[in-house]
Amino acid sequence: MIPYGRQSISDEDIDRVVKVLRSDYLTQGQAVPEFERNVCTYVGAKYGVAVNSGTSALHIACRALGLGEGDYLWTSPISFVASANCALYCGASVDFVDIDPNTYNMCTDTLKQKLIKAKRHGCLPKVIVPVHFAGLPCKMEELYKLSQEYGFYIVEDASHALGSYYHDAPIGRCQYSDMTVFSFHPVKPITTAEGGMVVTNSENLREKLQLFRTHGITRDPMLMVSKNDNPWYYEQIDLGYNYRMSDIHAALGISQLTRLDDFIGRRREIAQCYRDRLHELPVTLQLEESGSVSGTHLFVIRVRPNATKKSHAQIFKAMRDHGVGVNLHYIPIHLQPYYQSLGVKYENLEEAEKYYAEAMSLPVFPDLTNENIEEIISVLTNVLITE
Ligand SMILES: *Cc1c(COP(=O)(O)O)cnc(C)c1O
Repeated sequence: MIPYGRQSISDEDIDRVVKVLRSDYLTQGQAVPEFERNVCTYVGAKYGVAVNSGTSALHIACRALGLGEGDYLWTSPISFVASANCALYCGASVDFVDIDPNTYNMCTDTLKQKLIKAKRHGCLPKVIVPVHFAGLPCKMEELYKLSQEYGFYIVEDASHALGSYYHDAPIGRCQYSDMTVFSFHPVKPITTAEGGMVVTNSENLREKLQLFRTHGITRDPMLMVSKNDNPWYYEQIDLGYNYRMSDIHAALGISQLTRLDDFIGRRREIAQCYRDRLHELPVTLQLEESGSVSGTHLFVIRVRPNATKKSHAQIFKAMRDHGVGVNLHYIPIHLQPYYQSLGVKYENLEEAEKYYAEAMSLPVFPDLTNENIEEIISVLTNVLITE
């Protein structure tokens, strides 16, 4: 089966990891700060805090903003559950903003209407998490304007979007947000096996992120409650976690980052190939807006309803039966049993549910070959038209 996504590991990647394994420090050594610096240089942000997953990154980003009980976080229903779970970890509530039917990102017009309503009812969100779905940047400038008007923080979930560009600036520069979060899971733009990072331009937020990464412990005398010069002394001043990334993982990330531009180049080449070949099929593709460059983490097609005799599920199964590992990103989060069990009434998410009834991710990853692409297109054509 051709998977929908897969890591690309080179001999250089392996050498870099082995070097750490032979060194003195497997964790809390030099590789993590080096990886943080390199990601910051790449995206143009001031500070990076590496952690053990994208989920942890979202969690400490929310903690750093003081999200807690009585607060609301809004995100897109078409995302991985982690984009919403981070609020629940903090004791806050979650609500969802419907997607734009063309970009599959959170719709800014819908958001605006929802904000107007929330203001009237006195329940404006404290944090909004826009997700750059499939690598396609959200309309950050508009989101930023709304954040100024309605007073919410923005944490970009850029798990799909390291290497994507919005208005000529790499995602992660945080011009229009407080923080940006990346994931380095194997299917993501680069991998550390498991791993994530928060980037920000705020010194204050960085301090908090570092604190929550390591138990809430500090060795900085400026942050301590009491004055104590003893060399062993440290203080726990808040309740944090052990979310540290190891140097073994960071070493893989350092090496992978040098390959990111090649990865993105190949992903975009594959996407172009699909676009050129799929226009005769009854499918709709994600709209890439001008001013944005998608890193093409996913390549999603929507099968036009009633265009074939087969149901969405039948098409999906037939693709897999023919060796093409299609996937569905994502089941709308608000439909998950856990979210349904919370007793919250989620409203006006029709576009997300319509999307869910039609969407399918075709394989896209750097090592996908041209022969693979031909096979995928021919299987899809057969399943949709011939069979
Ligand atoms: C992968 C992913 C995450 C979580 O990242 P992990 O590193 O797997 O914890 C969060 N949000 C989105 C949109 C993702 O795709």
